[in-house]
Amino acid sequence: MKRSTFLVILSFFLVIPLFGIKHTAQAAGSFTDVGASHRAMKEIYYLAKGGIAQGSSAGEFSPNKRVTRAEAATFIGRALQLNGTKRPTDFKDVGSGMVASGYIQSAVEKGILSGYSDKSFHPYQEVTRGEMAVMISKAFGYKYDNKLSVAAEALKSRGIAEGKADGSFGADEWIIRADFSVFLARAINPEFRVKENTVDFKDSRWINVDSLNIRTGPSDAYPKVGAAKQDEQVISAYKVGAWNYIKYGSLQGFVHSAYLRDTAEATNAGNVDPRIAKQVIVLDPGHGGGDSGAVGYGIKEKDVVLDTGLKVNNLFKQTPFQVKMTRSTDTFVTLSGRVSYAKSVSANTFISIHANASNGAGNGIETYFYNAAYQNPNTDDSKLLASKIQNRLLAALNLQNRGIKHGSFHVIRENTMPAVLTELGFIDNKGDNDKLRSDYWRNAAAKAIYLGTLDYYKAKGYEVDALYDVAK
Ligand SMILES: [Zn+2]
Repeated sequence: MKRSTFLVILSFFLVIPLFGIKHTAQAAGSFTDVGASHRAMKEIYYLAKGGIAQGSSAGEFSPNKRVTRAEAATFIGRALQLNGTKRPTDFKDVGSGMVASGYIQSAVEKGILSGYSDKSFHPYQEVTRGEMAVMISKAFGYKYDNKLSVAAEALKSRGIAEGKADGSFGADEWIIRADFSVFLARAINPEFRVKENTVDFKDSRWINVDSLNIRTGPSDAYPKVGAAKQDEQVISAYKVGAWNYIKYGSLQGFVHSAYLRDTAEATNAGNVDPRIAKQVIVLDPGHGGGDSGAVGYGIKEKDVVLDTGLKVNNLFKQTPFQVKMTRSTDTFVTLSGRVSYAKSVSANTFISIHANASNGAGNGIETYFYNAAYQNPNTDDSKLLASKIQNRLLAALNLQNRGIKHGSFHVIRENTMPAVLTELGFIDNKGDNDKLRSDYWRNAAAKAIYLGTLDYYKAKGYEVDALYDVAK
């Protein structure tokens, strides 16, 4: 191969990933304070690979820092893929603006953590080894009889924790981030444990998709170690969130539970349609950067629709759907850039999210579709999607119904897949604005868009019933 040819090919491979970076979760880099000789290096980087352990913006992990209750909720929440969207909580000392608020609320709802009787959570209180043993026992379903000593034993018997040199567990000692990472990595993946054969493979499951990747951890970010084919059998040991730890021949690893069924015969009942995994949904929060969109009562459309879009994204990420965003930060993307992005990722469904304005004179929700088949040929499906999203938004937000309408907006006209543009409400109307500015109501709007999209797929004959729970 000529050197120039080699360089052309090399630059081809170097350039391609750049296009994806904007829409890819930040990759696990390396922490400046966790070097190759650190005793918890393997476990910390294992967790970092799946985004479970994260460092500061300066790239520090702070391995010797004591773990707070908020951090413990975040570590466990990420491991179990709980909903981490910042939101109001049951606790007076955990506001919706707190970074860990979503994980704290989710962990409490799942019974992994609990608050205090005075409705406080004490997010900055440090965690002891004993408390950590109880949290991990609850998160991974180990029997612990409500006793700290039994929880400690549950971890020791599985090779997740070791006792101290003096034979005690050190239950009252604070736990630091390095050690918490070690215990969590061992709980997730038996390969890190200090004992052999601690896992009981017992539940037969069958593959319900053409080919299912087996990975080293509970997330698509982990490398693939193999694959199992349609109708083959695997033996499951336990679940980590939506992922099963399974044995397949000589391989062990994680597979997404959406593609497993619990009968040898393919019945499809209760299983998610395997075609769903091939569906690409593009979410398009309008405006951004120097383009604020509509403004009213001190808030901007670009911020309302980005936050709502990120919340919708978070819901779809818990499903087999492939969800992508035209923007996930406060940046400006042109209308044609949004359309060409949707086409470039072969989107099957396009949902643009906006808020309205009309000098204070209008109020309510409306959803647009493009009703002229010579441009975007998907008139019927676009209309169906618009009506499903509109109905869910009305039920969730209880604002005026302005109906579904034909609209000649660039992003729904120039696209080549079913496409809608929804207006969540009027930002310059006091009543609508009260909801648009509220994290609670934006969560409600996000769930509505998610559920409306499921309703659309269901109407199109896809089996999606199992996915409605995600919005609970
Ligand atoms: Zn707009």
